[in-house]
Amino acid sequence: AKAIGRNTYSFFTKEMNLTMTRRFEIEGQMHGALERNEFDVYYQPQLDIQSGHITGAEALLRWHNPILGNVTPEEFIPIAEQTGLIIPIGKYVIKQALQFLSEWQNVDQQKYKMAVNFSPRQFRDNELIGFIRKSLIDTNISPQHLELEITEGVLMIGKSYIRESHLELHKLGIKLSMDDFGTGYSSLSYLRQYAFDALKIDRSFIDGITRNNEDYDLVKATIAMAHSLRLVVVAEGVEIREQLTLLEELGCDYAQGYYFSKPLTAKQLLELKYTTKP
Ligand code: C2E
Ligand code: CA
Ligand code: CA
Ligand code: CA
Repeated sequence: AKAIGRNTYSFFTKEMNLTMTRRFEIEGQMHGALERNEFDVYYQPQLDIQSGHITGAEALLRWHNPILGNVTPEEFIPIAEQTGLIIPIGKYVIKQALQFLSEWQNVDQQKYKMAVNFSPRQFRDNELIGFIRKSLIDTNISPQHLELEITEGVLMIGKSYIRESHLELHKLGIKLSMDDFGTGYSSLSYLRQYAFDALKIDRSFIDGITRNNEDYDLVKATIAMAHSLRLVVVAEGVEIREQLTLLEELGCDYAQGYYFSKPLTAKQLLELKYTTKP
């Protein structure tokens, strides 16, 4: 038993070292990455299921580093959060996304919306509200066209400054949506405690709706519940026609996913002409 214990231990430390090394490299490279212009914002269109038209997009961050190559957000966002670098990086995303939104609205003469992912640490920035207000004014975007996507993990911190900032953003008219709905512990109690405008059903549920009765029933109940709370519902990770058909039957409001489009560069999105209906 001792030998096994020791083997397990050395195996474990090896794994940890690897992770620690990677973590170190990422953190090291992330300092200065903003200044070196290594970040890009991509945009994934969101569609109104009823009309089939594009109504907006979600901004998704991409990082290409000369030494590490492409690093996925799944890998670098948590490190950016832990180090606090998410504050300048998050501001960069908001600024880029609003500048692009302004151009996109002008080119197409459409009041598109822009959804931006929002991390826990960003609430701790005293300049946050001022920064967002100024960015909206500079780009001439009205607050209701900016949506911040917040995961319930963020809220679980439960600090009062989060609740205050959340309320302040809501009062400014900025839309707030609960991201990855259904994956956390206390989705319902957060919906009650915070002012949300929209709910995004996590991809893992959408994935199962065509094959699995439980997932179908959960999505159906979630949409009904959200609507009774006057929240709009966005389905994420729609990959096939059958999922869209079911979501339409269930009265889901918006959809996003590879079925329509992968995240695109600003230029690609400006060139995209997409609708599911004639
Ligand atoms: P998320 O907010 O849940 O974003 C959706 C993720 O699903 C994106 O991955 C998107 O590319 C991917 N996706 C979209 N449609 C489909 C589909 O049909 N099928 C599948 N399999 N995947 C799809 P991505 O871009 O790698 O981002 C991963 C996560 O990183 C995001 O999850 C978000 O939590 C975080 N993230 C990305 N950009 C930012 C950012 O600017 N700020 C913060 N705080 N987090 C970000
Ligand atoms: Ca999101
Ligand atoms: Ca999500
Ligand atoms: Ca997610």
